[in-house]
Amino acid sequence: MSTVSLIQLNKNFKEISAVSDFDMFIEDKEFVVLVGPSGCGKSTTLRMIAGLEDITSGTVKIDDRIINNVHPKDRDIAMVFQNYALYPHMNVFKNISFGLRARKYPKNEIELKTRKAAEILDLTELLERLPGELSGGQKQRVAMGRAIVREPKLFLFDEPLSNLDAKLRHKMRAEMKKLHQKVQTTTIYVTHDQIEAMTLADRIVIMRSGVIEQIGTPYEVYHEPANHFVAGFIGTPTMNFIDCELEKTQPGLHCQLSGGSSFQLDHFQLNEEIGPSREMYIGIRPEDLIHVTSKRENLISIDAQLEVVEPLGAETLLICKGDFGEITGKSNQARGLQWGESIEFEINPDRIHFFDKKTRKRLSPNIS
Ligand code: ATP
Repeated sequence: MSTVSLIQLNKNFKEISAVSDFDMFIEDKEFVVLVGPSGCGKSTTLRMIAGLEDITSGTVKIDDRIINNVHPKDRDIAMVFQNYALYPHMNVFKNISFGLRARKYPKNEIELKTRKAAEILDLTELLERLPGELSGGQKQRVAMGRAIVREPKLFLFDEPLSNLDAKLRHKMRAEMKKLHQKVQTTTIYVTHDQIEAMTLADRIVIMRSGVIEQIGTPYEVYHEPANHFVAGFIGTPTMNFIDCELEKTQPGLHCQLSGGSSFQLDHFQLNEEIGPSREMYIGIRPEDLIHVTSKRENLISIDAQLEVVEPLGAETLLICKGDFGEITGKSNQARGLQWGESIEFEINPDRIHFFDKKTRKRLSPNIS
């Protein structure tokens, strides 16, 4: 068993605050992904856990042991980086078993552990090959093999798939997931790719400028983003944001969009007082903005002018301009759509998000 406690972790590089007040408890066997834009502090956080970076203040614990001052090699952690750092003159077997040989494990144990790791990672046929004779994905699997033979308490991954092309990344993502299901070692994984984060994580930590913006399951960060930043970061294409004024009505809420359009949400109530009206952003994901071809009663909808059609095969993205700005919606039947055409989008009212313009926090309305 290995849990990780990160308590009020801070890292300053002179006057730069790279990580501030990072607080999190990671459960045994959990797969946690740190994600955020470049420079947000995710690698620095990982490197502090690995012991590769001094901690300015705060505490790192594995189980009940404080490891702030423990040497990296004594932390019982295995780390896999973006560049696999394989020894070019050693074959796959020797690369995987390198750590065990350095620690002078008995020969039969080295043989057993290395072959077991090779089997888990589907590398048995390649044990005699040199790194130069392997594909990018195979090299990455060897690097993972080297980590798993050590049976560490904790795996740390720093952008391990970012050197691979899109197709291989996708395949290796699934491999990572299978690997975790097999070995169940507690894992902390850094990426800037939100799709990788969503598909791999039990919980995602979204960071910006050294600060945690939200910790949550993939479901939570997608459906209940804490704020405007998280809402815009998670999801592709990104969420549409429209300036609006929200007014409480009897019943429900009235939503006045910038530019003149408006709609009524009879079944919505806000938990908090908003005064006579309040400036907000409403957020609607493209997948919740569906092109409708025939007018229906009681539809909550907005109109816009079609600017770009992006067919993706199974569905089509429609980039449009309304009096409130640009929005992206989706269509299932985009044949024959013309540039400049007027498009009506149905909005799924349960999926509308409201963000306070000042605090940028998401408000959670009650829907009856
Ligand atoms: P990326 O996705 O680009 O790798 P990241 O989220 O991993 O970014 P970090 O590498 O953790 O970000 O960097 C966080 C901040 O700390 C950045 O502003 C970076 O410039 C700064 N930083 C990182 N390492 C050092 C260093 N050795 N000296 C000074 N500043 C540093």
